[in-house]
Amino acid sequence: MFENIPVNVGAAYEGERIRSANMFVELAGPKSIGAELVRVKEDVEDGRIKVIGPDLDEMKQGERHPFGIKIEIAGKDLEEDLEGVIERKIHELCNYVQGFMHLNQRDQIWCRVSVEAKEAGFRLKHLGEVLIALFKEEFNIIDKISVTLITDEEKVKEFVEEARKVYEKRDARVRELSEEDVDVFYGCVMCQSFAPTHVCIVTPDRPALCGAMNWFDCRAAHKIDPEGPIFEVEKGEVIDEIRGEYSGANDAVLEKSQGTIEKVYLHSVFEYPHTSCGCFEAIAFYIPELDGIGIVHRNYKGETPLGIPFSTMAGQCSGGKQVEGFCGLSIEYMRSPKFLRADGGYERIVWMPKEIKEMVFDFIPEELRDKIPTEEEAVTIEEIKEFLKEKGHPIVKRWKEEKEVTKEKK
Ligand code: SF4
Ligand code: ZN
Repeated sequence: MFENIPVNVGAAYEGERIRSANMFVELAGPKSIGAELVRVKEDVEDGRIKVIGPDLDEMKQGERHPFGIKIEIAGKDLEEDLEGVIERKIHELCNYVQGFMHLNQRDQIWCRVSVEAKEAGFRLKHLGEVLIALFKEEFNIIDKISVTLITDEEKVKEFVEEARKVYEKRDARVRELSEEDVDVFYGCVMCQSFAPTHVCIVTPDRPALCGAMNWFDCRAAHKIDPEGPIFEVEKGEVIDEIRGEYSGANDAVLEKSQGTIEKVYLHSVFEYPHTSCGCFEAIAFYIPELDGIGIVHRNYKGETPLGIPFSTMAGQCSGGKQVEGFCGLSIEYMRSPKFLRADGGYERIVWMPKEIKEMVFDFIPEELRDKIPTEEEAVTIEEIKEFLKEKGHPIVKRWKEEKEVTKEKK
């Protein structure tokens, strides 16, 4: 299928990592900008590949470039609902290319091309060819497909803006719906290739932690590929409404984690939090000294109040483990009315980076907005404690109550 591609292509290369030592260039990523987007169109020019901006042979080793992947598809059974699911596949399919690495999703993508691939003659147009062939193979409802790869900085900027509008529209739709309105949730095991016990449970109130799949996306995915990695989860009995514990979700998690994970609380970081694979957009972490919860996201490079950066924390709680006090989540989940509600929701949140605060600002209860510090106000436990006291964060009342309880016990 890929005689014209100068590198190998296949599932075998999926786990390949490209470290800086053998990296030719980095595309998008935390130090640049980028996005990926799939749009369903009435008609597209089948097989068309366009590279806007410099291709690999016009780049120099060690450089970093903005990067956009835009895929347009047409087909009589395709609907807009499917865009999110098909888009989520870009990650896996790009990684089939030997010497090309793709991490994350949406406007968080981070790609690398290896020196070997570049030297073998691999160019971005080849990536386009591979994607066209693999997408058609993967989804037979795609009749026509075109791929645009963008490296021109201005054009990537415009594209990221366009993509964010589409993501926002997809996310907003599901905000109208809640767990009480449906009988079926969805599960996803797409990440089991590297996190074997990880099972995502997606409800109208809890989008997947990768941020790329909401309840509607999963419904559409299951419809087109009932045997695929996304499956229906009967909600079953409500065991604990506040924690978000459902018999159906427990059964599904137990079965799909090969008996490893017995139950899951969808809206808590305590006892049985949702498992975390590795592609979460953010992590909620318990801070024992403050009895509060902090949030940190992938783009935040500094230290967290736990004294470690995001990357270290991610290493400790990923891989499909259920680690009490830690939970991978999507930024969109922070806009959910059930956001960690068993733990107190925003009243329990005592720290988050400024960038996240800006993203979810409208969803933080008004009276709490200036009471949650960011790295600009405080980072160490002591600094945060002072800030919370000064601003009268509701957690302070919680500390007092706890003290009284301990006194009474004595
Ligand atoms: Fe599926 Fe969850 Fe992985 Fe997203 S994070 S691809 S929903 S398993
Ligand atoms: Zn994942």
